[in-house]
Amino acid sequence: MRARRNTACAAPEGAPVSRYWSSVVEGLTPYVPGEQPKLPDLIKLNTNECPYGPSPRALEALRAEVGDTLRLYPDPNSDSLKHSIAKFHGLKPAQVFVGNGSDEVLAHVFLALLKHEQPVLFPDITYSFYPVYCGLYGIAYRRVPLTASFEIRVDDYFMPNGGIIFPNPNAPTGRPLALSEIERLLRANAESVVVVDEAYVDFGAESAVGLIEHYPQLVVAHTLSKSRSLAGLRVGYALGNADLIEALRRVKDSFNSYPLDRFAAAGAAAAMEDRVYFEQTCARVIATRTRLVRDLATLGFEVLPSAANFVFARHPRHGGAELAARLRERSVIVRHFSDPPRIAQYLRITVGTDAQCAALITALGASLA
Ligand SMILES: *Cc1c(COP(=O)(O)O)cnc(C)c1O
Repeated sequence: MRARRNTACAAPEGAPVSRYWSSVVEGLTPYVPGEQPKLPDLIKLNTNECPYGPSPRALEALRAEVGDTLRLYPDPNSDSLKHSIAKFHGLKPAQVFVGNGSDEVLAHVFLALLKHEQPVLFPDITYSFYPVYCGLYGIAYRRVPLTASFEIRVDDYFMPNGGIIFPNPNAPTGRPLALSEIERLLRANAESVVVVDEAYVDFGAESAVGLIEHYPQLVVAHTLSKSRSLAGLRVGYALGNADLIEALRRVKDSFNSYPLDRFAAAGAAAAMEDRVYFEQTCARVIATRTRLVRDLATLGFEVLPSAANFVFARHPRHGGAELAARLRERSVIVRHFSDPPRIAQYLRITVGTDAQCAALITALGASLA
């Protein structure tokens, strides 16, 4: 039966099988994730993963989950993980929502809190998943241009809107926005939700988590993929007023009641508990970033000030696509965006280990020659 159903010859000749697609699928423009190469030995500086492994305590917790209990569903509410996250941030578990990566959390945020009559506002240069969620859920949006120096200017968001979302630090620029500016935005925007996507905040920006108690319209999103070295586990979370969190739970329980499996919940909780390892890892990445910025400048690159685990840099005499291709020939992969044209000359380079960054600099030096 199975084989029969899968054969293309079951369809009338000439009729594309995509005619079975829903009209929703026809209109989708999906997100394009950074490459996860199958080749070994590449220096992988293209998707902002952490170059250091997860906390040993997280690995131990993962191993402890292997066993008979895997026949049972996990806790649908991930209560124990929510408790660890709440404790880390000094909040209550009811102010925490967890999901299968912060991408999933953000998807629920768009549907639950940002889908309104007025358009959602986000920067013109930002995380390219935001317009994708708008496309999936039919949400109107408006891109607000960054300044000439790639900064978010809060005053540009003072207009009627169905919500506001931006990463802090922004991606792919790495530029942080001061907490005082975020607070000014919140004060001027009480009637719709403001989402601060803090995927990279642990590498040097000021977190808005402390503002949650003062602003019921604030949602802060975090991921364990970057600063906690767990991109492979797929865990992210949102923090905010308990009533906003309830909206997310409603969407989640209308979609997938068990987004976090037993491994994800246990490993993530142990990672949240290991504050010392987390702080050490971030400090190492920040120290390497300082050296990387200096070495790139020596090669003639202009580097935007970064508070993230990546830098955004351009060379005045070489195109971004050209440099990315030459680096690839030397087994180093970085990320290049050809759209919008304003950033086409830039490379987004993840901060790796000191050795990886030294290899990148060597490869870049040879590419420029
Ligand atoms: C990496 C990233 C995320 C998503 O992280 P997950 O791996 O899905 O948790 C969200 N927002 C921004 C800006 C990111 O760079």
